[in-house]
Amino acid sequence: IFNNIEQLPPDALFGIKQRYSKDTRSHKVDLGIGAYRDNNGKPWVLPSVKLAEHSIHSDPSYNHEYLNISGLNAFTTGASNILFGPDSIAIKESRIVSNQSVSGTGALHIAAKFISKFFPEKKIYFSKPTWANHQAIFQAQNLQCDSYPYWDAATKSIDMEGYLNAIKTAPRGSVFVLHACAHNPTGLDPTNEQWANILDMLNMGDHLVLFDSAYQGFASGDLNKDAYAVRLGVEKLSDNVPIFVCQSFAKNVGMYGERVGCFHLVLPRQSNEDETAKVKAALSSQLNKIVRSEISNPPAYGAKIVAQILNDENMTNQWHKDMVTMSSRIIKMRHSLRDKLNELGTPGNWDHIVSQTGMFSFTGLTADMVKRLEEEHAIYMVSSGRASIAGLNEHNVDHVAKSIDEVVNH
Ligand code: PMP
Repeated sequence: IFNNIEQLPPDALFGIKQRYSKDTRSHKVDLGIGAYRDNNGKPWVLPSVKLAEHSIHSDPSYNHEYLNISGLNAFTTGASNILFGPDSIAIKESRIVSNQSVSGTGALHIAAKFISKFFPEKKIYFSKPTWANHQAIFQAQNLQCDSYPYWDAATKSIDMEGYLNAIKTAPRGSVFVLHACAHNPTGLDPTNEQWANILDMLNMGDHLVLFDSAYQGFASGDLNKDAYAVRLGVEKLSDNVPIFVCQSFAKNVGMYGERVGCFHLVLPRQSNEDETAKVKAALSSQLNKIVRSEISNPPAYGAKIVAQILNDENMTNQWHKDMVTMSSRIIKMRHSLRDKLNELGTPGNWDHIVSQTGMFSFTGLTADMVKRLEEEHAIYMVSSGRASIAGLNEHNVDHVAKSIDEVVNH
């Protein structure tokens, strides 16, 4: 019965990881997967995570019981507070429903399930380009996916005119997925002024907004700065339409494999408090139903670690330092690569490597150049030319710059 089932090609990103692992060249460099590495190219357990782990394991009442269906309350409340901010009107008016999720991907999946159940006719718009998994997650729920212009290859900047025009012409009440900060893969974020224009235009079309927040604090080292768009969105839109937010702690706490995330649904303002409580209870029951039939209840360990960090002042302070450590090393590597390419006189302007933000740089290298980097220089990155800057360090940046110079020149 299985003989006619077609074999699919390997996942583009995890396929790179596999080829990299098998490569025996000692000078190989992994610029594929978006995971932080230290200056020796090694994974980094954050000092704040070590403190939290120590504290959890020295608690004699520690156990491995199930969490609630909606997750660990200390975690979801802390997660909501850092994202929406202490002065959030939505928190004050108790208008947010939060469910712990299987990292950011799980939060997006909950959003997709929820939309497909209650608004199956809505079209979902993604930036062009976007994170490779976005469309796959929503298409798996039979939702109709489309894109809005984002990256302008000629100017290496955001195509604002195309972007705003797509919002204007989309069917009223569509869903727009926005990267809260550190856009993946381009590393290009709107300015504060551009965000205001985008959100106003979305409001005019009664569109629903889904913020994907996978890099808060990791991009700039500052949680508030990286939450600017989400908070402005709540301020500008949430009188009118609901807002979905999918939050990941994979990068900013380095909990990649522990799958720590949260899905938040910000309700539009209701006529009175009782109505808010009623709608909130109904939505919470529906979200819990989705979670119950799929994972029963979310994974506990990583959420306990993050809850400790968010609720203990000492650990929170250490975490802020950890985010600065990660973001500043990445920024330093951006400068180092750009400077070396300039010193080599590599044709083209490489300033975008420095001006882009977050984990990635959309280098502008062609698929053919990327292929040659892998085959001839043992440097691995996505064929779109996206490089994970976290994979660069003081020991390999010379080799990477010389290799880029070689493939660009030949
Ligand atoms: N959204 C974006 C834009 C991402 O880049 C990622 C991670 N690469 C995610 C969501 C989700 O990641 P995770 O499931 O590991 O939290």
